[in-house]
Amino acid sequence: MTTRAETTRQAAAGTVLHGAGVGRRAAVGPVVRVQPAPAVPGDAPVVRDGLPVPADDVPDAVTAAFAAVAAGLRDQADRSTGTVAEVLGATAMMADDPALQDQVLARVRGGEPAVAAIDAVVGTFASMFEQAGGYLAERVTDLRSVRDRVVARLAGLPDPGVPELREPSVVVAQDLAPADTAALDLARVLALVTEEGGPTGHTAIIAGQNGIPCVVRVTGAGELEDGVQVAVDAAAGTVTVEPDQALRSALETRAAAELALESDTAPGATADGHRVALLANIGTAEDAERLADAAVEGVGLFRTEVLFLGRQQAPTVDEQATAYARVLRALGPDRKVVVRTLDAGADKPLAFANLTAEENPALGVRGYRLVRSAPALLADQLTALARAGQETGTEPWVMAPMIATPAEGRAFAEAARAAGIRTAGVMVEVPAAALRAGAVLDEVDFVSLGTNDLAQYTMAADRLRGELVDLLDPWQPAVLELVAATARAGAEHGRPVGVCGESASDPLMALVLTGLGVTSLSMSPAALPAVRFALRRHTLEQCHAMADAALGAVDPATGRAAVAALLDAEARATLGV
Ligand code: PEP
Ligand code: MG
Repeated sequence: MTTRAETTRQAAAGTVLHGAGVGRRAAVGPVVRVQPAPAVPGDAPVVRDGLPVPADDVPDAVTAAFAAVAAGLRDQADRSTGTVAEVLGATAMMADDPALQDQVLARVRGGEPAVAAIDAVVGTFASMFEQAGGYLAERVTDLRSVRDRVVARLAGLPDPGVPELREPSVVVAQDLAPADTAALDLARVLALVTEEGGPTGHTAIIAGQNGIPCVVRVTGAGELEDGVQVAVDAAAGTVTVEPDQALRSALETRAAAELALESDTAPGATADGHRVALLANIGTAEDAERLADAAVEGVGLFRTEVLFLGRQQAPTVDEQATAYARVLRALGPDRKVVVRTLDAGADKPLAFANLTAEENPALGVRGYRLVRSAPALLADQLTALARAGQETGTEPWVMAPMIATPAEGRAFAEAARAAGIRTAGVMVEVPAAALRAGAVLDEVDFVSLGTNDLAQYTMAADRLRGELVDLLDPWQPAVLELVAATARAGAEHGRPVGVCGESASDPLMALVLTGLGVTSLSMSPAALPAVRFALRRHTLEQCHAMADAALGAVDPATGRAAVAALLDAEARATLGV
């Protein structure tokens, strides 16, 4: 039998692992693995130095395990800052909690196996916290993290969860949950590599938002061991083990070329001056504040659900208004901010909004449809947005996700206007809305294409299933047909049609979208310089030809190749196409 270490040795030096790249950046660095939560049976023996601990010593071993977990977390918190320090500090307090330990010890002294005792007590505490709601309910994730760490220690396994990064590292995980990313010191993350997940999933979006190279669905990533050097190339979708000097130099040259693109800060336009606004996607007020001095023409998608995630109750109107006002202030009076109302459900479930379990949540009560079951959520959010607009003197544009019919568009626009918001739009993510875009645009001021979901619903392929990545490709001609239909309707109505899905961050696709008639492109800020450069190198007529080539192609690969063949030589060299 081949051990994991032997497999890694065989895979060493020059082996190339393949996955789906997110963005275009690359990085080289040492691997740090995120260990999954251990699957330890309740009656597993407690071990120390590889040997079972005698029954009489188990209570002491349990106490020592809690103390060691608490001390480790506190140390890590002391060396961290911001959200990471907060998350770790709160988790350390949980590990120190005498009530938790006393109950575990009472059970262990009564003869219950240690792991079973911890599981039982943590289970009881978790339901108590959940019932209490509010702050305590939000601590359930920390409680489970303490459980996983103590159990791993008792079973002699490595610490689970996100490790402390002592140097810039390539983080390798099976997949990352939102709570994992909150505990990750992103400043020290050179790149993210996951075995699972999809290019429009949570990990990919966080990576894109922070300009971190990311490759998801990497076959064989599970065999990468801590400390091994890897080159992660998001543009190529590859992870190369122990890269040679030639590859390192090629990636450095490309990074320098990308950096040079950042010196161009002009507004987005084609070579012949056709304007296409270049906007940023954000999820938090901090993201907005980072844009204060950036060459970004505004925000094309503010995913407000980040403010709601992980909570047991919706933030109050006051709390929301404060957060929205921070975003509007950060962008200032001259830059547009498009705020999306809550998109809970499916891949972004919220405890207080998605009350019933659904068999097909992506086809269920998500996004705007929540107005059917929890109308106060939307009403409060619109009130808070209008208030933030009044306080700052900058009016937000507001749009609803998951709109399927013109009637839904009308109802949303009426609710927004009644709350005091003047510019109301909707996202086009459902094929029905794209096919009837003209009728939708009769009701609203603008639309924004969410190509992540539009691909999911057009191709009937779950965006969380990474193995369907070929079907989810935004280069699918069927998806582009719907983009084209929406852009045509926008032109007929003289109303803006943006794209805020991940496809806008691909420079080649950005040219196609421009050729199809899209009026703005919104993406992670890190993707913007390459898109700005691609636009500047080509005329609108060339973009039209590229759009025709992509639409006329039989499949995504043929479409992309046909567009690449139409690129100007300098663009091809600089973009590494
Ligand atoms: C989309 O679906 O393309 C989109 C921008 O929304 P999200 O990725 O948040 O669903
Ligand atoms: Mg969407």
